[in-house]
Amino acid sequence: MIRNHQYVRHLLTLSPGAPATAHGWVKTRRDSKGVIFIQINDGSCFADLQIVFEAGSIPEEVLSKVTTGACVCVSGAMVASPGKGQSVELRGEALELLGAAPPETYPLQKKKHTLETLREFGHFRTRSNTFGAVFRVRNALSFAIHRFFQENGFLYVHTPILTTSDAEGAGAMFQVTTLDLMNLPRKPQSSAIDFSTDFFSHPAYLTVSGQLEAEIFALAFTNVYTFGPTFRAENSNTPRHLAEFWMIEPEMAFCDLDGNQELAEAFLKYLITYLMDHCRQDLEFFNQRYEPNLLATLDNVASSEFARIPYSEAVRILEQSGRPWEFPVYWGADLQSEHERYLTEVTFRKPVIVTGYPKSIKAFYMRANDDGRTVRAMDVLAPGIGEIIGGSQREERLDVLREKIREHNLPEEHYWWYLDLRRHGSAPHAGFGLGFERLMMYVTGMKNIRDVIPFPRTPGHAEF
Ligand code: ATP
Ligand code: MN
Repeated sequence: MIRNHQYVRHLLTLSPGAPATAHGWVKTRRDSKGVIFIQINDGSCFADLQIVFEAGSIPEEVLSKVTTGACVCVSGAMVASPGKGQSVELRGEALELLGAAPPETYPLQKKKHTLETLREFGHFRTRSNTFGAVFRVRNALSFAIHRFFQENGFLYVHTPILTTSDAEGAGAMFQVTTLDLMNLPRKPQSSAIDFSTDFFSHPAYLTVSGQLEAEIFALAFTNVYTFGPTFRAENSNTPRHLAEFWMIEPEMAFCDLDGNQELAEAFLKYLITYLMDHCRQDLEFFNQRYEPNLLATLDNVASSEFARIPYSEAVRILEQSGRPWEFPVYWGADLQSEHERYLTEVTFRKPVIVTGYPKSIKAFYMRANDDGRTVRAMDVLAPGIGEIIGGSQREERLDVLREKIREHNLPEEHYWWYLDLRRHGSAPHAGFGLGFERLMMYVTGMKNIRDVIPFPRTPGHAEF
């Protein structure tokens, strides 16, 4: 370790008699029968450390400030704990108050708060049981993602966040400019804005996806992945959409749609197994507090084969369901959340991969099938969430790709380098995008995407 710091996680594994120094934030304090009990947490694990002092051993003017939220440093020795819930506790000898948290103003007192209230205190919600668990899982999941790809020989590539290609129409984009908004330069004899004087001499945006750039790397490094922030200016106030979210995008050369599905399934199973092995306490908490079927569902996903069905079959199932759909179902319609959830929650009761969507509802770069009306697209649907992964085999044939760019009414000149990749050393390749926060919702059972990202950005909200 870099610094000789004793985390609570580590202290809780020590044997009685071991000297210990603990740092953390007070969860609760109570004084009972001549003993002072202080619970602290330092974020290193779900469990709090119980600290006991003899009454009178802490000066009253200090003790009165040891309230919920205060930061303390306590040294003493570990002893066997007679109380239930922990096998050892810290017998305090000296307490230093590092930072008081006056109860009149500290917003997170002991009583339970709703997740909505906690969101307003984004600078303190991190100290609650729920968000402690959420962000430990988020950390472990990030690590597991890198580990999976690194173990499988994938190259990690950083695709740009600022982009001048209004590329693939994945979603509405945030424009980035240094132009004076009060005094926009205009083109001569026209009301059009003259972007030649803007920072990049061109309109610029925050990226909605790193896929197209990842393809450049796949066609040189074979297997690559991105894991970074993406932005969508979609004005959809749903529990599943953020304006800023993180995406994982693997891209594989010499890979078709079958290989893509195999990777998606193996990847999700690996991540869930990793969390079950490394975040057990946190997952048990989610299971007990938020989603009673969580552990069973995760076990099920890790051990069962994902269902795989063609889009046409999905449409047939939905048409025959007898449900009164809000959005009509017919061949050619995009699947809406209600349809996706029906397939995965009612029909199959496990993750489902739907492939072969109509070309009219999918992006231009997806590989055309020989039937002339479908493309090699795949969506992975998960119970409780709907789509968590969207991917495809990419069109590697120059003539077909140019035709599709025309069909989608996109300007060919914007895609000059993308087309160039098909002119020089083209190869079959495939990949997908996984919304990191959607996955976080899935593995924690949290129902609102705002509660699985440290600082949510949604229409009208970008605090902290
Ligand atoms: P949706 O239909 O749910 O809006 P999408 O079709 O726009 O999703 P893609 O463009 O395929 O999604 O993006 C890839 C993945 O990124 C999705 O499968 C999803 O997991 C995630 N994702 C997309 N939009 C958002 C968002 N606004 N906030 C969080 N995650 C998102
Ligand atoms: Mn969308």
